[in-house]
Amino acid sequence: MGTGTDATPLRRLAEPVRGRLAVAVALQAVAALAGVVPFIAVSRIGERLTSGSPARGDALWPLVTLACAAGLVALACGTAAGALAHLADNDLQLALRRRLARHIGRLPLGRLTDRGTGEVKQAVQDDVSALHTLFAHTLLDVVSVLTAPVLALGYLFTVDWRLALLSVVPLLLGVFLFNRAMAGAAVQMAEFGAAVGRISAAAVEFASGIAVFKSFGRGRKAHERFVRATEGFADFFSGWVRSTLASSTAAVLVVTPAVVLLLLTVPGAVFVTQDWMTGAELVPFLLLGPAVAAPMGVVGPRIQQIRAGQAAAVRVTALLDAPTLSEPTTPALPEGHHVCLRGVSFSYDGHTDVLSGIDLDLAPGTVTALVGPSGSGKSTLASLLPRFHDVTAGTITLGGADLRDIPATELYRRVGFVLQDVRLLRASVADNIRLGRPDATDEEVERCARAARIHDRITALPHGYATELGTAVTLSGGEAQRLSIARALLADAPVLVLDEATAYADPHSEALIQDALSALAAGRTLLVIAHRLSTIRTADRIVVLEDGRITEQGRHGDLLAAQGRYAALWEAQRAAGPDETDGLPHQRSAPAGAGRAADDIREGSAR
Ligand code: ADP
Repeated sequence: MGTGTDATPLRRLAEPVRGRLAVAVALQAVAALAGVVPFIAVSRIGERLTSGSPARGDALWPLVTLACAAGLVALACGTAAGALAHLADNDLQLALRRRLARHIGRLPLGRLTDRGTGEVKQAVQDDVSALHTLFAHTLLDVVSVLTAPVLALGYLFTVDWRLALLSVVPLLLGVFLFNRAMAGAAVQMAEFGAAVGRISAAAVEFASGIAVFKSFGRGRKAHERFVRATEGFADFFSGWVRSTLASSTAAVLVVTPAVVLLLLTVPGAVFVTQDWMTGAELVPFLLLGPAVAAPMGVVGPRIQQIRAGQAAAVRVTALLDAPTLSEPTTPALPEGHHVCLRGVSFSYDGHTDVLSGIDLDLAPGTVTALVGPSGSGKSTLASLLPRFHDVTAGTITLGGADLRDIPATELYRRVGFVLQDVRLLRASVADNIRLGRPDATDEEVERCARAARIHDRITALPHGYATELGTAVTLSGGEAQRLSIARALLADAPVLVLDEATAYADPHSEALIQDALSALAAGRTLLVIAHRLSTIRTADRIVVLEDGRITEQGRHGDLLAAQGRYAALWEAQRAAGPDETDGLPHQRSAPAGAGRAADDIREGSAR
């Protein structure tokens, strides 16, 4: 990836439209230069009119014509530059979004679930927009404010070099004051980001924890942390503003046309009264002086846009450079559905193994349950089967074929997953279920919904199966999970990875989910991440994971008799009562999927 400079990702992204952007820049430069010419012509006309000798029309007409022609050239070139930059940018945005979509589609699913979809949304939406601002607007603005003053100043030097030197003073003063205002800005910006981050964290904590805090009679406490974060931010921000207020205001003021005119008129008047220059010679300074200082007025916001564009380019290229799942060089098709893990190790960061030396067989039609303390690697191990990540060492085969050699469509036809974190689309209930198999008939959709114990709830919705989710209706976590079970039933993958729900506030919903899961399990090879040992007593095999290794495996009765780790976990959960999971105490709370499912729908995202 990048060389560490921020310009490189920008240049790389702009490469396909570089030619057109260069032409747009050249046109804009011509427009900016031509825009100065009418002012020069008007000053010349003023000079002629006040030179004493009676002005003759044929001496003035060429200047008037020049002014008009230059004005037209400025207009035409400016419009052409803007149009060209926008066309180039349109193509760039389209190409970039297509590239991102293609690339994201080939990223390991694990990358998207680990980091959430915020990164993708930011790249595809916000970052591409930031690049649009940079290429279609900022670039041309910067060209204008840098070109026009050069010609204006050059002309002023030909009129009177002393006053021309003075006309640079507001610009230099503006630069000096702006630099003073921006001194330490990098440190302050970092602190600004950190302060905003603290507010967000406190706000999320406040919102998500309010029920818990309230139920323990500590509502004020949650509130206090949020208030402290906002007060901290207010203190920091007002301190920052106070320290830079004088210089940043002065930087803006000193380059405003009124101040520039004042700074030029007073010495100009002295020059004229001293007969160092004529009154007519003062006119171009009054007309063009403000243009010389103008760049400072726009430079502040443009610098922000350039920085935002650079940061966006860094993020977009980082996403485009993220390694995709390897495409099979010699595609293989599984024969049967026997899953076999041999010597499997996995590391998220390339250093610490989260799983090591896993040997495991999932015979067709059997249920294998993964148990173990939180953080022992259950979810990670399960996520390797649908290739959320590729193994770091060892192999996983399905029907004798290495997962990495099975084309994605073939793999997902055979390996399905139902996770706690249910993703629903802003679409009809039927379409949400039909994601499992788009060509399924209405009868098939309904049959699966019945088996998943969600049919009755669907028919109670305002428009039954046609009800749009997320607009008027959001499903509870338990209902969303049953819907995702219906989807998996319809997809009918012979191998299923299932993350058993952790905790449900509503026992009725939990019983329905258990029924739905039983329907799903029938005749399939199942790998279940079990949070409650009571639900997996009948599993064909229970695998105990600790620190990423298998420490015990067998049937429930055998493992209890062995009096090992499983027996200890079982005892711990029984002693702690039905709400305890993972062998560790958990707070009874809303189902993990509930809020997420609702959030997904609210955002209307196709996650
Ligand atoms: P379990 O499902 O048994 O609770 P996990 O598989 O979630 O365990 O986690 C196993 C270990 O891997 C933990 O130490 C956890 O912190 C780490 N881990 C899980 N997901 C990630 C991730 N996306 N990136 C880095 N580390 C992770």
